[in-house]
Amino acid sequence: MTEEELTRLAQWDKKYLWHPFTQMQTYIQEEPLIIEKGEGSYLIDLKGRRYLDGVSSLWVNVHGHRKKELDEVLKAQVNKIAHSTLLGLANVPSILLAKKLVDMSPPGLEKVFYSDCGAAAVEIALKIALQYWQQKEGEKYRRKTKYISLAQAYHGDTVGAVSVGGISLYHGIFQPLLFSCFYTFSPYCYRCPLSLEKESCALACVNKLEELLAQHHEEIAAVIIEPLVQAAAGMIVAPPGYLHRVRELCTRYKVLLIADEVAVGFGRTGKMFACEHENVSPDIMCLAKGITGGYLPLAATLTTTEIYAAFLGEQNKTFFHGHTYTGNPLACAVALANLELFAKENIIAKLQPKIELIRRGLNRFNNLSRVGDVRQKGMMVGIELVEDKATKKPYLPELRMGHQVIMLARKHGLVIRPLGDVIVLMPVLAMGEEELNQLMEITYLSIKEATEN
Ligand SMILES: *Cc1c(COP(=O)(O)O)cnc(C)c1O
Repeated sequence: MTEEELTRLAQWDKKYLWHPFTQMQTYIQEEPLIIEKGEGSYLIDLKGRRYLDGVSSLWVNVHGHRKKELDEVLKAQVNKIAHSTLLGLANVPSILLAKKLVDMSPPGLEKVFYSDCGAAAVEIALKIALQYWQQKEGEKYRRKTKYISLAQAYHGDTVGAVSVGGISLYHGIFQPLLFSCFYTFSPYCYRCPLSLEKESCALACVNKLEELLAQHHEEIAAVIIEPLVQAAAGMIVAPPGYLHRVRELCTRYKVLLIADEVAVGFGRTGKMFACEHENVSPDIMCLAKGITGGYLPLAATLTTTEIYAAFLGEQNKTFFHGHTYTGNPLACAVALANLELFAKENIIAKLQPKIELIRRGLNRFNNLSRVGDVRQKGMMVGIELVEDKATKKPYLPELRMGHQVIMLARKHGLVIRPLGDVIVLMPVLAMGEEELNQLMEITYLSIKEATEN
């Protein structure tokens, strides 16, 4: 590409595009990084510069870019058919994938409803939960139309998903549009909502959920949670036992548990699904992001047969929900190949030494003067920067400290994206030892340079 063509693309990017979750006023003042190609753990821009993909292209990539097996499956599927509808019609890849998902997911999840993004998977879960209680035998269940969510929750950006969201910066302005929801505490140990210490709190934050359920269970359809890690909130890692307690409470009070595994699913926490760490089977599970190995948009909402059965019968019991591209054969074919690779290449078992390498590599971050908290669960990392370590005082938002750090990292050949002043690392699961070390090194130097100058 000529210098001229390059300049024109950059201009058109600023002129015609509106980037998601991006303050365009500042974006247009910076030089855009335009990716042209990928190769393994690297992104390659138009000038041929290589960048380590430190957040898996927003938490989706698993086996690296241009994985041969996935490319081939995709091409083979194109040669058969790119798309046919799932509304009253079936296609091969969506059937095979559904069986695979049921086989590998926590016990009890036996039905698969497809969509094409995490937010849609959540909307579907919320709607299924509500309709389930409307159609289940027993008049007393008809009042179950409300939800409990966690403070700081993130479940996607459509209106239903935002209604159960808890990040005021993103969600506050839409308040007039949202249905109301009960909130329980986030297990944010670094800034404990109860000002307790993790070592001695006995999971006191769960008590609020118990109070809410005791008081309102007759009107609650479901509790929705991001199991183990509240990712978009800044990689908030729940203490062990938290999820298990939530499951127990939902069972005791006859409320559905919706596990939003969109971010944590497919290996990110060190197991295939986060729920496995605490032997939890949710009633409904939402999947997206890693499901296609980072290739194509696809999502799935899994439910129990008990829930599914409540929708059988007359026409009006149908689940009237569907997206045009539901069960797209290209996406399903590549998802199936992705999951087969997980097994064939032993991805989950191979994560253990990588997780350990990251854990060791993170130790020295605590010595940096502006690193307040370092959180890790498996291959998910959040490094919270603060202006004052002793008081945990955050930086002024105008400083955009997180952004400063990632722009420095970019100069050093690493693409990462912060959540406010939390630096997020979410490496491609297939990343090798050397690349992981490089990821940690560049991140360390970038934080040091941005915060100590
Ligand atoms: C990313 C995310 C979503 C939304 O997924 P999209 O595909 O972006 O709509 C929902 N829930 C969680 C936990 C997520 O991290």
